[in-house]
Amino acid sequence: MDSSTPLSTKTLDEELLQLVSQPVTRVPLPIAASMVVIALFAVGSVEPWIWISWLALAISLLLIRWQILSKLPDLGHLSTRYRLNMANLLGALNGFSHGASVIFFPEFSDLERALQTMILCTLCAGAMATTAGYRPMFLAYALPALLPISVMWALIPSEESPWISYSATALILAYVYVLLTLAGDTYKMIENSFELRLRQFKLNHKLKGALEEAEAANRSKTRFLASASHDLRQPIHTLSLFGAALDMQPLDERSREISQHMNTALQALASELDSLLDISKLDANVVEVTPVPVNLKLLLRRLGNEIEPLISDKQLSFSLDCNNEIWIETDEVLIERVLRNLINNAVHYTTSGEIKVSVSFADGLAHLEVQDTGCGISSEEQAHIFEEFYQVSNPERDRAKGLGLGLAIVQRLVKLLDIKLQLTSELGLGSCFMLDIPKANITTPAKTQIINKAHSWRKLIVLVIDDVAAVGLGMKALLESLGCQVLVADSTETAVEAAKKTSPNIVLADFRLRDNDTGIRSINALRAFLPGLPALLISGDTAPSRLQEAQAAEIELLHKPVMVDALKQAIAYACDLNEDVDFDPHTELETRALL
Ligand code: ADP
Repeated sequence: MDSSTPLSTKTLDEELLQLVSQPVTRVPLPIAASMVVIALFAVGSVEPWIWISWLALAISLLLIRWQILSKLPDLGHLSTRYRLNMANLLGALNGFSHGASVIFFPEFSDLERALQTMILCTLCAGAMATTAGYRPMFLAYALPALLPISVMWALIPSEESPWISYSATALILAYVYVLLTLAGDTYKMIENSFELRLRQFKLNHKLKGALEEAEAANRSKTRFLASASHDLRQPIHTLSLFGAALDMQPLDERSREISQHMNTALQALASELDSLLDISKLDANVVEVTPVPVNLKLLLRRLGNEIEPLISDKQLSFSLDCNNEIWIETDEVLIERVLRNLINNAVHYTTSGEIKVSVSFADGLAHLEVQDTGCGISSEEQAHIFEEFYQVSNPERDRAKGLGLGLAIVQRLVKLLDIKLQLTSELGLGSCFMLDIPKANITTPAKTQIINKAHSWRKLIVLVIDDVAAVGLGMKALLESLGCQVLVADSTETAVEAAKKTSPNIVLADFRLRDNDTGIRSINALRAFLPGLPALLISGDTAPSRLQEAQAAEIELLHKPVMVDALKQAIAYACDLNEDVDFDPHTELETRALL
């Protein structure tokens, strides 16, 4: 055993050895001083060689003891028991040398005898602490140190009052007995504290294990979410491409109706997948925050317009109380996501009355409230509604009632944006979600970015790289209906071959291709002979590593299923194209940054 032995594998003997061998530099000095005092008593009455030899022996043994004791923990090649026995032996030798001072007893006056006894008793009391109350070690010192003097009091009693001498013998023996009991108690305390520490250590170890397990479970949850998202996105992506292409065909009325229903259902499904994707992106810490000045009124008005049809369907009223000049400094896409979720929930959970959105200013913060007169949330439920997949009254998990991810996303986003979110709600009366958003230091409108017109859709040559034939065909059908010329390849090699024959204006590559090939590899290979070729990566994989890889390669990543509008916006943006695209910078931001 050495001092670095971990607590989990340590025994009580090892702990004991460590305690008794702790380098106590203060201890030898008072003991040596006590020996000198006894020797001084002997100076006048005892032959000098006797007291000098005794003093030399006692001090030498004292030094040897403390020297060896301090080295014991390092003698790991010897067993603990053996080293404890060595400590016992050293204690006994010291006890004998101290007890041997009784050779002066016959020559001492009564007062000197009393002082000698006091010194030896004090040393024994000290030994209780230095032996950690371990009885064998304590007795090894105390018996040889005190028994001789107690016997001497009986054998050579004081001439003036012998009964005091006999009582001294009895008192010394009683004293040893009391010390022995106290030593037992001290040792018990040390034993208990050792066991307690050991138990606590084991408990901490277990807790650490449980924490690691929980973290691993959380990681596999993120992985599961990412791969589930990927597997579901792939077919929806293909379906939405075909759906959009179908919509652009001349159809009879009934077929158009069916196609529109199909596209609406697909969009709802895609939006649920987006929620899953948002959560996994937020958990993977790959959502970047870009704070810009945002005109809050414009943003809220846009969200108000979005919910207008629902508001009139449910015969609710909507009011917006916000000053034109209120600018906030935050990430526009992310704050829009937060506000959309809160406002949608307000409409969703209100059957009559009104939805009120109001903004006021205080201490450099815009205080925004989304208030409703809906069903309200009980205080018990308020503690849970921000948890993932938690819904108050959807035990049957009817997906038409949402996924229960909206507020979980809101909470992660406000944390990321450093915005304070509060909720007050009363069951049956309504709810109010409050946000404190940092105010921007501007009052003039910021300039919106205008994309320059460079090509037209009809002249655009798009190279699609996807190893799933159906996706390639779907993409081709869609892009051709937009007027583009489309080249389809299924690997880096075929893409390079095609691009060498006809130079594309943009490449749309799937992230993961067959045989360990990747879209990033394809894009790099194409850019080797077509420098600066605009490129978009399309992936159904939401694993954090995928997102980070795309970010590192600085290639725009779109997630499947990519809705037609989002795809059009991304192509238009990458190619500086605006013809046929109803360009709205806010929609553009929304489709490009978070989703
Ligand atoms: P979802 O709306 O998809 O169920 P959310 O995470 O957005 O998921 O909300 C979680 C739960 O919180 C909802 O199921 C609903 O019961 C409750 N909730 C959220 N907003 C409101 C609101 N404005 N009024 C009443 N209940 C609400």
